[in-house]
Amino acid sequence: MSGQFFIALLNPGIGLLLAVAFLMLWLHRRDQRHVLLAALSYVAMASGFLILDFAPVLPFEFQRLPANMAFLAAACLIAGAAIGRYRLAIPWRAMGAVCGVSLAFFLWFLLVQPSITHRVLTISIALGLVALQIPLALRRVERAHLIDHVIFWVGVLSAANFIVRPLLIIGLTGGFSSYAGFQQSVYWTTVQFTQAMISILFALSLMIGTAIDLMAELREQAHGDTLSGLRNRRGFEGAAGAAVRAAADDDRPAALLIADLDHFKAINDTHGHAAGDAIIAAFGAHIRNLAPADTIAGRIGGEEFALLLPGAGIEAARSLAEAIRSGMTAPTVSIGLAAAAPGAGLSQLMRDADQALYEAKRAGRNRVRAFTPAPVPASRIAAAS
Ligand code: GH3
Ligand code: MG
Ligand code: MG
Repeated sequence: MSGQFFIALLNPGIGLLLAVAFLMLWLHRRDQRHVLLAALSYVAMASGFLILDFAPVLPFEFQRLPANMAFLAAACLIAGAAIGRYRLAIPWRAMGAVCGVSLAFFLWFLLVQPSITHRVLTISIALGLVALQIPLALRRVERAHLIDHVIFWVGVLSAANFIVRPLLIIGLTGGFSSYAGFQQSVYWTTVQFTQAMISILFALSLMIGTAIDLMAELREQAHGDTLSGLRNRRGFEGAAGAAVRAAADDDRPAALLIADLDHFKAINDTHGHAAGDAIIAAFGAHIRNLAPADTIAGRIGGEEFALLLPGAGIEAARSLAEAIRSGMTAPTVSIGLAAAAPGAGLSQLMRDADQALYEAKRAGRNRVRAFTPAPVPASRIAAAS
């Protein structure tokens, strides 16, 4: 048994292990279709190598046809996996066309004008064109995370490996006149080596990408409120606290609204908790419709909502509050608002707005009240002068 035998097992082995890994990942997250595409890609790649290196030789070297079809399928599937992660349209038609044309050339160079060199070039360049779909599709995507750059460049590297390497090696070493020694050739050895590396690179970057997506999703869940579609208290306090600090640093104003639905307990008691929930959801949508895009909005208690308005003074806050209030009739809503005082943080702002809300409730509900700082006692003014 030669050493070549074990090298030949490398890619099928890597392919099958990675296929199992992606399959296990997908079984936990059936909604992540791109993970399944990656698993199928590695199955196809492993099959291609197994057929090429171990299948019995058929008349006209016909076993080369299914092997190369498997490689083309593997390339399309991994490109689909990388592009699908971004929820972009996967260019199945373009990739299918590349594969179809290359297979036609392949058959020509197999049956009509047999040439191993031309067959190698045909398939390899087609694989490169398929891999090129990854950077082409991702070039306009905002690459927010390092991993997005990695996936992009692994696509470029893979395409370059398929297009440049065979041209270079065949240019340097000459083509193949027969399959004698093909398995030991520099060309085939570099295929085995580079393909093993790139398979692992693709798998690692897609798996890290999946882990990062999952963490972002969990963070979203930990900071969001599914009922209202706004942030929850924790999410609101984190983002609003940072926004208040940023506004203070830039000497820009900021204002806070706290809105509380009126007599909500009575609504639950009369119409049921589900009806109450529907109203909370509708109020969340109402806020999202009316508030400017940079507003930080959250449901900070059962039927209590807060909106932080970066850059807004008390009058802008009041007109938004009025728009929110007048758009709600059943139930009505009371709103307290406050403007950020220089040097004060979010918690002071929340206390002030809460105080104004309390006054709106006490004055009869269904109204907007702004916090007015208590007048400085005359004795203190005298002491300061
Ligand atoms: P007020 O005008 O003074 O604000 O009266 P209220 O009845 O709205 O105030 P209170 O704080 O006494 O009651 C709030 C009610 O909101 C109590 C609770 O049943 C209801 N509530 C809190 N969270 C939820 C929720 O997630 N869903 C539903 N359906 N009801 C909720
Ligand atoms: Mg209430
Ligand atoms: Mg309340």
